[in-house]
Amino acid sequence: MSFAEHAIAVLREKGYKVTRPRRQVIEAIGRAEGAMSPGDIGKMMGEGGRHLDQVTIYRVINLLCSLNLVHRVFSQGGYVRCDLLEEEGCHRFLICRGCGSLQEFRDEALCRQESEAARKLGFRAEHHVTESSGLCRDCRD
Ligand SMILES: [Zn+2]
Ligand SMILES: [Zn+2]
Ligand SMILES: [Zn+2]
Repeated sequence: MSFAEHAIAVLREKGYKVTRPRRQVIEAIGRAEGAMSPGDIGKMMGEGGRHLDQVTIYRVINLLCSLNLVHRVFSQGGYVRCDLLEEEGCHRFLICRGCGSLQEFRDEALCRQESEAARKLGFRAEHHVTESSGLCRDCRD
């Protein structure tokens, strides 16, 4: 199943309408290489001849982020599609400073550890974000 098919299935399952703007943003993110800003996504769709305004794109991205279908990558200032295609848990990134590749993973033990560290400070953590920078396997060799 492609990213777009998966994302559309999740929207339907959660009771969201698959409107044309939603479908267009999903398809653009599905084709994108690496992190994209809402402006980049707009340009990708603009090439297809159907331009959407930034506010609409931004709203769709926010919805997709809330469903764990898209993630914000802070260090790259953009958004990427979820590669794990699982709704649950915190999705984390390893970002290569050599080739810019992103690798996504999930680790429940890490989540427990982070929540425990927060709890000791009197805080109830609900979500964790990690972006590790370094060198990927290819760039290390
Ligand atoms: Zn993900
Ligand atoms: Zn690399
Ligand atoms: Zn977590």
